[in-house]
Amino acid sequence: MSISIFDILKVGIGPSSSHTMGPMNAARQFALDLEEQGLLGKVDRVACQLYGSLAATGKGHCTDRALMLGLEGEQPHRVDPDRVEATLARISADGCLNILGKHPAKFDQALDLLFHHDQLLPLHTNGMRFSALDAKGETLLVEEFYSIGGGFVMDQHGNSPATADRQAADMPFVFENAEELLQMAADNGLKLPELILANETADCSEEQVRGRLLEIWSVMDACIERGLQSEGILPGILKVPRRAAKLYRELVAGGPDDSDFMDWVDVWALAVNEENAAGGKVVTAPTNGAAGIVPAVLKYYLKFMPQACDDGIVDFLLTAGGIGILYKKNASISGAEMGCQGEVGVACSMAAAGLASALGASNEQIENAAEIGMEHNLGLTCDPIAGLVQIPCIERNAMGSIKAINAARMALRGDGKHMVSLDQVIATMHQTGLDMSTRYKETSKGGLAVNVPEC
Ligand code: SF4
Repeated sequence: MSISIFDILKVGIGPSSSHTMGPMNAARQFALDLEEQGLLGKVDRVACQLYGSLAATGKGHCTDRALMLGLEGEQPHRVDPDRVEATLARISADGCLNILGKHPAKFDQALDLLFHHDQLLPLHTNGMRFSALDAKGETLLVEEFYSIGGGFVMDQHGNSPATADRQAADMPFVFENAEELLQMAADNGLKLPELILANETADCSEEQVRGRLLEIWSVMDACIERGLQSEGILPGILKVPRRAAKLYRELVAGGPDDSDFMDWVDVWALAVNEENAAGGKVVTAPTNGAAGIVPAVLKYYLKFMPQACDDGIVDFLLTAGGIGILYKKNASISGAEMGCQGEVGVACSMAAAGLASALGASNEQIENAAEIGMEHNLGLTCDPIAGLVQIPCIERNAMGSIKAINAARMALRGDGKHMVSLDQVIATMHQTGLDMSTRYKETSKGGLAVNVPEC
């Protein structure tokens, strides 16, 4: 499988890439399949069943809302967060969906949207089964999909219909692991971001890729700004108060002081993840739950590094995206498969590598930064209280951001030589994730989720 950095860094809405964006993509794909097979006009009722982690934490992660929006044809990168409530209120009041905005079909949420907490579908813990029935109650189409992390979707045959996968031949440098990536870069005299750029320009111009990356950054930055200005209580039964706006006001009132850099990084990460928890527009990096780390560290680069410039932003995102691809290929970026090491841990590794790259690190130092960023997140569990992507998720992004900066700084102080390779730490993360009890993999059946009362 050949993956683009734009599969890793995608615009979408909160609160979860695996439990919100992926299900929305899957539901839309089911609707498109109905249309393609000429069945859309015959549909009288649609139904959806959720399995595994999607059933366990789907309510808190807004999976139910995402499914209805997806069946109506919405896509994570296009949906307007300000119109979502009105759409959902209409579906609820009418007991009816408008499939792809073209065809009405009955949809009674109590009967047609079922959560099977104790059942799994065969290929992955995040399973969904969609059904369409005609007016006589006969089945027109049944399809199963899986949300496999970061908004990626896989169908019942193991294919990924809703991603931008390319043919390996499209890209000049097809690497499967970090060792191959480093070797190809050395053989061709390229810095890592140059090699990733060469791959991304296989079917478009360098100017277009740079433009897309700067646009990705502007969406991240806008998310930070919205988070810094938004007050109040986050959605859900925990009634968690937003903190970023108050902290931001205190920092601004204190005037410029570089010794406050940790507070600034904290507030940027908190701002993004509060926006994500509120269902706002974010960029997966590599997931929604971990969406604050890359923006907070990139903002740190821009505010605190005197040499910061647009070229640095581009190098940062190319490198971070390239590291994310390594995790996607060799392990997983799904909290339901790997625990939080697959989300916050991967984001920390990506951001560490991105920052090192923007600061002019050698390829070996970049690989070292990425490795340090993951090594000290190994074993990190996923245990969101009440199934909401809020506690520990929001604060955890602030911690992951600081760790990423430290990892980049340690790597830059070295010469790139180190004992544990990035490939070894990715393999370790993968094995640790497979060994981890499902209680700690986005089910809210262990850890903080059971030791902290919900209200
Ligand atoms: S604990 Fe980590 S993996 Fe789990 S929902 Fe929160 S951010 Fe995602």
